[in-house]
Amino acid sequence: MVYDFIVVGSGSGGGSLAYYLNKSGAKVLLLEAGKFYRKNTFPRTEAETSADLYWGGGIEFAKDGKMGFLRTKMVGGSSIVYQCLMDRFDDNAFDAWKDESGVDWFSNATMNEHYNQVESDMALHTFTEKEWNRNAKLFIDGCDKNGYKWANLRRGQSDCALENGNDCIGCLGGCIRDSKQSSLVAFIQKAEKEGLEIQADTEIHKVEPGNETCKIHGMQNGNKVSYEAKKVILSGGAFGTTRMMYMSGFKKKLPALGKKFSSHPQFMWIGFQNEPVDAHKLAFQTVASKDPEFRKKGFKLENVFAPPISLAMLINITGSKHQDYMKKYRYMQCIEVAVRDENVGEIISDKNGKLTISKPLTDQDKERKTNGLQAIKNILLSSGANEVFESNFYFGLHLMGGCVMGTDPSKSVVNPEFNVHGEKTLYITDSSIYPNAPGINPGLTIKALSHKLSTQLIKG
Ligand SMILES: Cc1cc2nc3c(=O)[nH]c(=O)nc-3n(C[C@H](O)[C@H](O)[C@H](O)COP(=O)(O)OP(=O)(O)OC[C@H]3O[C@@H](n4cnc5c(N)ncnc54)[C@H](O)[C@@H]3O)c2cc1C
Repeated sequence: MVYDFIVVGSGSGGGSLAYYLNKSGAKVLLLEAGKFYRKNTFPRTEAETSADLYWGGGIEFAKDGKMGFLRTKMVGGSSIVYQCLMDRFDDNAFDAWKDESGVDWFSNATMNEHYNQVESDMALHTFTEKEWNRNAKLFIDGCDKNGYKWANLRRGQSDCALENGNDCIGCLGGCIRDSKQSSLVAFIQKAEKEGLEIQADTEIHKVEPGNETCKIHGMQNGNKVSYEAKKVILSGGAFGTTRMMYMSGFKKKLPALGKKFSSHPQFMWIGFQNEPVDAHKLAFQTVASKDPEFRKKGFKLENVFAPPISLAMLINITGSKHQDYMKKYRYMQCIEVAVRDENVGEIISDKNGKLTISKPLTDQDKERKTNGLQAIKNILLSSGANEVFESNFYFGLHLMGGCVMGTDPSKSVVNPEFNVHGEKTLYITDSSIYPNAPGINPGLTIKALSHKLSTQLIKG
């Protein structure tokens, strides 16, 4: 059969797109390489979460072994594990995209209606003082003492029932209450009730766009499968979509494939307090820096934490000192700096889909990191930490670029209509089309862009 639309990948971009296309009455198929977990079937231990929910069974590293990347593989994609902090871009972010890409509709004026629609389809909540845990209170105290501006975060959640003893840190392995507004909760499960066809455990390896239809080929539970649609939209995320495009032989035709990869590198510092902080309790992340000077300098600070096994991995010392640190888990206060990095990274795939990621830090990235870490140190020490510790590891959770949007086919992969250059039946919407790093959480804008594409596709 020939579908109207096939969406490949069910994360922030694909899940929301499939929902909007399905709502229009079109015949839509949503394909996903990973498994279909629900609130009552998510793995619960840290080890199982890592092994079952992530591509590569956990952290994947850049080729220099320094930077780790997290990307998930399941229905809902990375939105299952994300913190669901939902931020709109500012004009600075869209202007930087316009300059890089030549795409003139990148603006809040154009995106406003799409943000509005996506926001109205999600339950959103802005945190208040009564939800701050002690980690947040210490962050605020340190910011105030140093004159840094901060703000409560806005999160996609319906009812986390923290008063019943729920701790949101468990949400990192999937929300067991369907409170967190992942693509699964906000879009896919709703569309499923309205007849959306979803096939999990289906990994696409090759796309063959033609003039009238697009064929795709892959494996489902060990068996070869092929599908056909009038239009195919790739939403496999920065690594996944770039990989599919490489495996389909697009690199020769589109030399920009794999280029302009950025990832908001995150560096964590831990402070040790004399009294328990219990940063793992209650709402996990409620406040962040909102300082115009930090924005100008290209970084932001977030008030995060990690479960014990992940945190133990971050402490890059061994033996009794490591043991001493871990015994003080309840006394740890944690802040990270996320750098608005330059898009000089590259995603490369061989014909079998083996990825090699290059992500050097530029001098500008390093300067931004140093400025951010100095601000963190100031906050930690002025809020009473008796010792501070910096992890050697750093991470990219916001994987962006590889199939960037632009007007020039020699410098981009998709055109301003989300169409792969020169291919009428093949489209891309996900974080791979981001021209450069916005320095702002990417998830809401990925969904808003998918909504924009859906209106265009539905019009025909
Ligand atoms: C721990 C963590 C916390 C985060 N917190 C936030 C936050 O608070 N706010 C925010 O805005 N962002 C956050 N992010 C980032 C955000 O989750 C991602 O930027 C966003 O989900 C990316 O959306 P996407 O559609 O590009 O890709 P994904 O959501 O990763 O979805 C891609 C999907 O495609 C599937 N796929 C890939 N290849 C194939 C193939 N060949 N065949 C079939 N399926 C395929 C994958 O399995 C995956 O399910 C966080 C990320 C992480 C890891």
